[in-house]
Amino acid sequence: MKDSVTEIADVVIVGGGTAGWMAAAALSRFLANGRRRITLVESDAIGTVGVGEATIPPILNFNRMLDINENDFLRATRGTFKLGIEFVNWGRAGDRYIHPFGSFGHDLHGIAFHQLWLRERVRGEAGDIADYSMSAAAAARGRFGRPGREAKPPLSELFYAFHFDASLYARFLRGLAERQGTIRREGRITGVERDGESGDVAAVRLESGERIAGDLFIDCSGFRGLLIEEQLGAGYEDWSRWLPADRAIAVPTANVGPPDPFTRSTAHGAGWQWRIPLQHRTGNGHVFSSAFMDEDEARRILLANLEGEPLADPRTIPFRTGRRKLSWSHNVIALGLSSGFLEPIESTSIHLIQNGIQRLLALFPDKPVSPVERDEYNRGMRDLYEDVRDFIILHYKATQRDDTPFWRHVRDMDIPDSLARKIELWRLHGRIFRENAELFGVTSWVAVLLGQNIRPERYDPVADTLDEAKVAAAMAEMRAAYARAAERLPAQDEFLKVAGAWAAEAAA
Ligand SMILES: Cc1cc2nc3c(=O)[nH]c(=O)nc-3n(C[C@H](O)[C@H](O)[C@H](O)COP(=O)(O)OP(=O)(O)OC[C@H]3O[C@@H](n4cnc5c(N)ncnc54)[C@H](O)[C@@H]3O)c2cc1C
Repeated sequence: MKDSVTEIADVVIVGGGTAGWMAAAALSRFLANGRRRITLVESDAIGTVGVGEATIPPILNFNRMLDINENDFLRATRGTFKLGIEFVNWGRAGDRYIHPFGSFGHDLHGIAFHQLWLRERVRGEAGDIADYSMSAAAAARGRFGRPGREAKPPLSELFYAFHFDASLYARFLRGLAERQGTIRREGRITGVERDGESGDVAAVRLESGERIAGDLFIDCSGFRGLLIEEQLGAGYEDWSRWLPADRAIAVPTANVGPPDPFTRSTAHGAGWQWRIPLQHRTGNGHVFSSAFMDEDEARRILLANLEGEPLADPRTIPFRTGRRKLSWSHNVIALGLSSGFLEPIESTSIHLIQNGIQRLLALFPDKPVSPVERDEYNRGMRDLYEDVRDFIILHYKATQRDDTPFWRHVRDMDIPDSLARKIELWRLHGRIFRENAELFGVTSWVAVLLGQNIRPERYDPVADTLDEAKVAAAMAEMRAAYARAAERLPAQDEFLKVAGAWAAEAAA
């Protein structure tokens, strides 16, 4: 180590929402080893965004990293299992499909399952592609089973994530982070000190006058980007030309029955509505574009499409879709809403936080920060954001709806070249390739493209090399096996109760 280079001793996390407490839990687990101090500053008066309740399967890795017991976690957060997302009214009004976790069927002789399915479809024998997914089969029946380490197919093919209460999740992680040594400071930050020479952030100052100095700052201050934008001016790449939704109205409702193990996304005239079932309530929200619908109408549509009684007044959250041009600038790393925002159609924001934390741990710097590590981080985050962006735009572009100006606009808009190329490749022979470390794999793309009626002109000719009767028999056997396995699983609420993951008061 060069004389002028020292180890980072003080990490300061600014903000105590989901991003702040996820960062604190992970950094204190791996870095608070006696040589480093992790401090988190949050302001009860400012509060958190209070939404963000659906996740994707990689969150299981985060829980494993932190040695979190899944049943304790579900009980503490009133969580439920999520097997995928059901999309309603997206391709055409009245359409319904599921984007399940896990994969569709099994490849045969190296030929992708969806190509075999496309061939069978021509013969009229294939049925719904969701019948070939363990997670979709369980979701359709409202059932769940946790595939243990020893699980065999088809149960081992059941992939899942969670729905949880956002504020309880932050509380749960706070407990963990504090037990691991994170120091919490409450108070509003009213001042920031910079190093005169390097321009690095040196300290934050609270309203009370307290000064908190650090070597590395994690900006988890939400949309405003207290350090990354207000201090360092990292800049924002606006993606609203492709994703025109700019507001959400959120409202929780009482449950009307046992919670479904999937998120539902229902398209409306200028956006869509989420339904996220938890143990004790259901989260709902209407994401819409204010250029195409006024807020009163958006609220009316939301309230008219609720299943249970509202438990609070609807709350509007404005946002601007895009990405901070630099996630890491100087000695500040932005995580969560301060690093960018993509609407929650595919529940990706918490994953972007998780990925940012894991990437930071993999590239943890010394002081002063090396531009090599910082640039590597920024490159990786940019690629991830852009991959997710393309997949989300697909949901809008791949529509046949023309019933409102909003749908005509998104159907006809120009899209990024990276996405246009993917769709064209699919249209020809149904080919999809997962590039580099793309988050969404073949099943995800196939689910949305087929679910929204974008059919390839032909299947891959290679699929014709396999014997038709043998493929048909293998596929029939797969479909039957998924259905049989799903029938044997308990209802998800039964599973949660038997596992000790159901919070007692939620049962009342
Ligand atoms: C409508 C909507 C729906 C969403 N749904 C999903 C979903 O289903 N799945 C998903 O993965 N993600 C979802 N998200 C994203 C998710 O909510 C966020 O990624 C997540 O909550 C992280 O927020 P945050 O911690 O970055 O910010 P916040 O929750 O806003 O926290 C900011 C923190 O900074 C503190 N702070 C700010 N200024 C100061 C100051 N001056 N002094 C001291 N403290 C300060 C605040 O007190 C707070 O603690 C959704 C987002 C929105 C808007």
